[in-house]
Amino acid sequence: MGLWFKIPLWARVIGGLILGGVFGLVLRNAGQEAFVVTWIKPFGDAFVNLIRMLIVPLIFTTLVAGVIAMGDPKRLGSLGLRTMLLYMGTTAFAVTLGLVMGTILRPGDGVDPSTAGIDIQQQLASQIEASSNVTLTQQLLAIIPSNPIAAFAEADVLAIIFFAILFGVGILMSGEKGKPVSNFMESASDVMIRLTEIVMQTAPIGVFALMAWVMATQGLGILQNLLMLALALYVACIIQIVFVYGGIIRIVLGLPWIRFFRGMLDAQAVAYSTSSSAATLPVTIACVSDNLGVKKSVAGSVLPLGATINMDGTAIYLGLVALFAAQALGIELTLSDYFMVAIFATMASIGAAGIPSAGLFLAYSVLQTFGVTQEQSLLIVAFIFPFDRLLDMMRTVTNITGDGAVATAVAKWQGDLDEEVFRTPAKV
Ligand code: ASP
Repeated sequence: MGLWFKIPLWARVIGGLILGGVFGLVLRNAGQEAFVVTWIKPFGDAFVNLIRMLIVPLIFTTLVAGVIAMGDPKRLGSLGLRTMLLYMGTTAFAVTLGLVMGTILRPGDGVDPSTAGIDIQQQLASQIEASSNVTLTQQLLAIIPSNPIAAFAEADVLAIIFFAILFGVGILMSGEKGKPVSNFMESASDVMIRLTEIVMQTAPIGVFALMAWVMATQGLGILQNLLMLALALYVACIIQIVFVYGGIIRIVLGLPWIRFFRGMLDAQAVAYSTSSSAATLPVTIACVSDNLGVKKSVAGSVLPLGATINMDGTAIYLGLVALFAAQALGIELTLSDYFMVAIFATMASIGAAGIPSAGLFLAYSVLQTFGVTQEQSLLIVAFIFPFDRLLDMMRTVTNITGDGAVATAVAKWQGDLDEEVFRTPAKV
């Protein structure tokens, strides 16, 4: 046991990731998928439940504590503006990258989407119909919770963010009278961060189990069916992570970028194994504040927003899938088509929920911006669906790394970055 704790947590998590993947593949080859599903996957589910358990109380308390720590609603405005500009800027770059990679690597050439399973098509059609009945106005209105308790119960992150910011501003405006609530929220946010650290101790096992499950049930079949799409996505995501985020850290902020990637490693491993930026959020917050030295007030406000609206990996993916579809269906895209895809993909990535497969369902509507029929869109989505998990894992890593880079940049500009912590080896 002592030996286990001597190995740093990040190394145990990465070890779990690799060993889990290998273990899953070995059991798949031995025809033991069912064993993994019955006996191994529950450990992964338990881990996901543990971190999801933290989301609502963690976001609420750290965000309120964050607003209080800013001390002045005006600072909140400048923080919000900088955050939004950076989120938009990185996403615009990401979608362009997806389109460029799709044009160069041509992942859809020679693909015949009509081989997609009919049962998958039917299953997807009903899911898509259920989700497309919500209008944009309804989505925007839903940000204002008519009942905050219900928003908590449903873990509706945007609604919780809205309420938490107002609640924090209310505390600030109450002055002396608001002090007890303010102290309570600050203390509660500290407690929630400790709780996250406890839960993170289970990450190596959870990550092992999830990877074993993905590999045992999906294998590396993607390599035959969607090789070029997977390659284009992985390469584009790596470019986005290394050059765009690395560039922000190294060139714009003048900080050592190795420390940034090292500090984000745990969150990346959890994102890769869970395919959900929302579920990873508590770990992202812990990494960014404990390892990168971003003040809790900034981490607690920038990251929850990022986990819901900033999805660069998803934006890359949507651009790529659009080109994949156009190539597979033999549609020539005009410049204005490219433009429309870019706009729609950006908007869709903002609206995407940080849950597994969210991006795939959005692809369905993005495809229709350049004349792909509903039936064809369904076919494309159904064709990718069985292998989407491996793609989803990579876009989720990109999504949360982007959130971390933006949080670090905003913290540095607001004077809320402890560079001493950033430069010392990571704790979590
Ligand atoms: N799974 C991704 C995330 O949670 C969203 C997507 O499907 O692209 O960040």
